[in-house]
Amino acid sequence: MTQQSSNQPPSETAKNQDDFRELTQTLQEGILIHRDGVILYANPAARKIIDAPDQESPLDNNLFELLHPDSREKFIQASHDIISGEKQWAASEIRLEKPDGNIVEMETSSGPTPFQGQLALFTVMRDISQRKRQEERIHHQANYDNLTGLPNRTLFYDRLTQETVRANRQNSRVALMFIDLDRFKWVNDTLGHAAGDQLLKDVSERLLSVLRKSDTVARLGGDEFTAILPDMAKGPFAERVAGEILKQLATPFILEGQEVFISGSVGVTVYPDDADDVDGLLRNADSAMYRAKHDGRNAFRFFTPDMHTEAQERMELEKDLHRAMERNQLVIRYQPIIQLETGKVVGAESFLRWNHPTKGWVSPSAFIPLAEEIGLISQFTEWMLQTACTQAQTWRKQFDFDDFFITVNLSCTRCRELSTDDKIPGILRETGLPPTALVLEITENILMEDEERAMSMLNHLTHLGVNLWLDDFGTGYSSLSILKQLPVNGIKIDRAFVPDVLTDPETVVLVEAIVSLAHSLKRQVIGEGVESAEQAQFLKDRGCLMGQGYYFGRPMCSVDFEKMLAKKF
Ligand code: C2E
Ligand code: CA
Ligand code: CA
Repeated sequence: MTQQSSNQPPSETAKNQDDFRELTQTLQEGILIHRDGVILYANPAARKIIDAPDQESPLDNNLFELLHPDSREKFIQASHDIISGEKQWAASEIRLEKPDGNIVEMETSSGPTPFQGQLALFTVMRDISQRKRQEERIHHQANYDNLTGLPNRTLFYDRLTQETVRANRQNSRVALMFIDLDRFKWVNDTLGHAAGDQLLKDVSERLLSVLRKSDTVARLGGDEFTAILPDMAKGPFAERVAGEILKQLATPFILEGQEVFISGSVGVTVYPDDADDVDGLLRNADSAMYRAKHDGRNAFRFFTPDMHTEAQERMELEKDLHRAMERNQLVIRYQPIIQLETGKVVGAESFLRWNHPTKGWVSPSAFIPLAEEIGLISQFTEWMLQTACTQAQTWRKQFDFDDFFITVNLSCTRCRELSTDDKIPGILRETGLPPTALVLEITENILMEDEERAMSMLNHLTHLGVNLWLDDFGTGYSSLSILKQLPVNGIKIDRAFVPDVLTDPETVVLVEAIVSLAHSLKRQVIGEGVESAEQAQFLKDRGCLMGQGYYFGRPMCSVDFEKMLAKKF
């Protein structure tokens, strides 16, 4: 046996080979002595690993051949270095491929040892497969989305950073897309979470089918997906992909056995053209997506610099709107509604107004869609109902005005979130306003998102005795079937028509048709946007019951409205 003075081999310190055997019998670690891959000795723990379970089994496996190709080279080189004296020891993580195909991960450290008269290698091995699997699981959990298996926000961010670095090096372009589903919330709310989950999985598959292997599709959370397209040749490539994505999302999905139509909005930005860092790209893609959504959904938009200012302004406004109510910046304006036959005030429409500290009066058309989007609308509507009903009841008592009614506009795009029908009985009870003195103005959009839910809400409101008017009639689809279907007792001719009733023969025909249609369905007709006596006369002659507009009175604060009422009584 060769003496190794610097590196006392264990079999040398043991008195003899038997002692060594005995010593290693009960060790948890696998101990192998080998040379050129030939296994000379294996303790029981090592035998288990290399599939030579009992003492008698021959050690005829070659260690090097058991190694998985991706760790073989390295291990052979290290063994060689030790035998040649170049290295005193080596530690490495290796993978063994068992005859049954199973892979085990081992942590090893090796050193030289004299064995049966020649220099061999002494290797201690520990099975770390479980730890490795756990590490992998943790890595996976930290980087991938559980539901879809797509990269998550963290990995997405890494990849995007990597791709921008690579693009710098290769002087190429990267396109970043934000993809948002237009009706995900609706699916979740009406078909349930399981259907929502299924939809997200289906969407991720469809996105993967559109994109190349080198692209990254990630899910940032909720229904927000994103795609990174590296090496994007300038020109229509990204456009084509975005178009294909929209097509995929607009193809019906089968959820809970039924066909479901959703669509997507896509925002696209390009590196380095639009931004020089990752955060800038994210902001751009978001702005472009927002624009796509606003332009009517089921669309894609490329980022343009003006979107940036727009997005900033929107963010500011959004922040301010969140505080508008607690800071008492919201007020109500009341516009008189006149009975055309008698010229008397019979009610008022209430409008929300936002008195912004620096911008002044912000138009409801500017902030109501925003309030809908950021989920503030239900809070606003509730406040409107509460305040307007209280006010109306005060005037009814003060002027002994039993027929006076108040109208409140209901936001229709997000009516589900309102559950207005649940709130209204309580508000009426608290304020003492009879249900018949409340009119809710809805638009046909109410049927757009969830028709069934909307119908049940409207029927519930009708049963409470509350009146419903269909606002802005004549715009949009305004079909006969919608009018027949909705349990409304009045329709408001859109204010866009009224200015033309004296000059444009087509408008005259249209207004006459609307009035006669409404009458045949036993609905009242209210004309809005009346700005002159002639217009009022026209509407009255055609059978309109009520009218409102600047001619009778502008929307005014409660004090002015009260003065006006006082004059009339
Ligand atoms: P709308 O319900 O159709 O309201 C009628 C709009 O026409 C109001 O504008 C009103 O001030 C204006 N108007 C009234 N008379 C005349 C007239 O003679 N000529 C002209 N040219 N316009 C007239 P406003 O207050 O800016 O509201 C715009 C829209 O914002 C409303 O349209 C309504 O859709 C929405 N809105 C206003 N207040 C509320 C609210 O409290 N809740 C909800 N959900 N929406 C509201
Ligand atoms: Ca209205
Ligand atoms: Ca209207």
